Amino acid sequence: MAITPLMPVYPRSPVRPVRGEGVYLYGEQGEKYLDFASGIAVNLLGHGHPHLTKAIQDQAATLIHVSNLYGSPQGEALAQRLVDTTFADTVFFTNSGAEAVECAIKTARRYHHAKGQPQKHTLITFSNAFHGRTMGTISATNQEKLRDGFAPLLPGFTVVDFDDLDAALDAVTEHTAGFLLEPIQGEGGIRPASPEFIKGLRKFCDENDLMLVLDEVQCGYGRTGKMFAYEHYGIEPDIMAVAKGIGGGFPLGACLATEKAAAGMVIGTHGSTYGGNPLAMAAGQAVLDVVNTPEFLDHVTRMGERLRGALEQMIPNHDDLFESVRGMGLILGIKMKTDSRAFVGYLREQGLLTVAAGDNVLRVLPPLIIEEEHVTEFVERLSEAARHYDVPQAAA
Ligand code: PLP
Repeated sequence: MAITPLMPVYPRSPVRPVRGEGVYLYGEQGEKYLDFASGIAVNLLGHGHPHLTKAIQDQAATLIHVSNLYGSPQGEALAQRLVDTTFADTVFFTNSGAEAVECAIKTARRYHHAKGQPQKHTLITFSNAFHGRTMGTISATNQEKLRDGFAPLLPGFTVVDFDDLDAALDAVTEHTAGFLLEPIQGEGGIRPASPEFIKGLRKFCDENDLMLVLDEVQCGYGRTGKMFAYEHYGIEPDIMAVAKGIGGGFPLGACLATEKAAAGMVIGTHGSTYGGNPLAMAAGQAVLDVVNTPEFLDHVTRMGERLRGALEQMIPNHDDLFESVRGMGLILGIKMKTDSRAFVGYLREQGLLTVAAGDNVLRVLPPLIIEEEHVTEFVERLSEAARHYDVPQAAA
């Protein structure tokens, strides 16, 4: 049999982590890696954080799972904290980012349905977006590599250029339900939307009773130095998808909405067997305890400035490889002049974990608990690796 027991859908690297401690991962043979990838923006608290670990252990010993047929004191408590922390009035818990986006799409459509306008079912989405791998979320992007071979895709999405307000508004028809976007595109190459773009979409939605739906699965949850990226833009969405960091590594996501936006999400309209189970809620509580304090968010901002400053200082020494730094806080991207995927592979061999993204960007997504010494170690080792890197001929 040629196929592997693990369905071979990932280009898995030779790194095989079996243990983690703080900002370091350890492989099967004891190899040590500095983890500036964090499971792709997931392990906000690094590996083995005592508060998160204890919360999961205690809850596992108390009650792991019950059905959503029963009352959920655990879900009510975390939902209340998220409501208190954000624009939202109500929360649906999921197990992943794609599920959170699915719920967001359904909420936006059902808002108009509940208002007696079911023809308003189409979301305007943006080039190079990534919203997940379900049929709905691949239909919401124009990235061919995600869609290839999965036709027929779902109708109800119109893709226009990211950060182009005129293109977005020109695409509006009588079928438009709203706009769905990442305020900072992650997989697309760490591209923050401009304030004019997001503010323009917000204003248009207000004037035309459309839904502004944000996907903060990657950029949200403290990573930018604020709890959510939308806070940097001085706007609030109607609906927002969250995942990754919210569970600190435990599979958890959430769809947040205002009372108005959630008008159609009544009993029987949505559900999930596992979504919001007591174990996931305990993980979510523990992460929120640590992340949602002014001191912690200030720490992220300071570390982000430090890291960005050090990277910007390093770039002129390797201007054959690196062009510029983009992003906010600790969601940073280094735009490369060569294939970032090949360089990320080389860094792995040197014990440094980062992630490649679209547009030849090298993503730097450390745990939010990093200290100055980790910033120094990362930039020194990155610079050393850049000094010895031979650009592969095919990528040159
Ligand atoms: N949305 C964004 C912005 C993401 O970056 C991702 C994952 O990378 C997703 C959605 C999908 O999340 P998940 O892989 O948990 O389904």
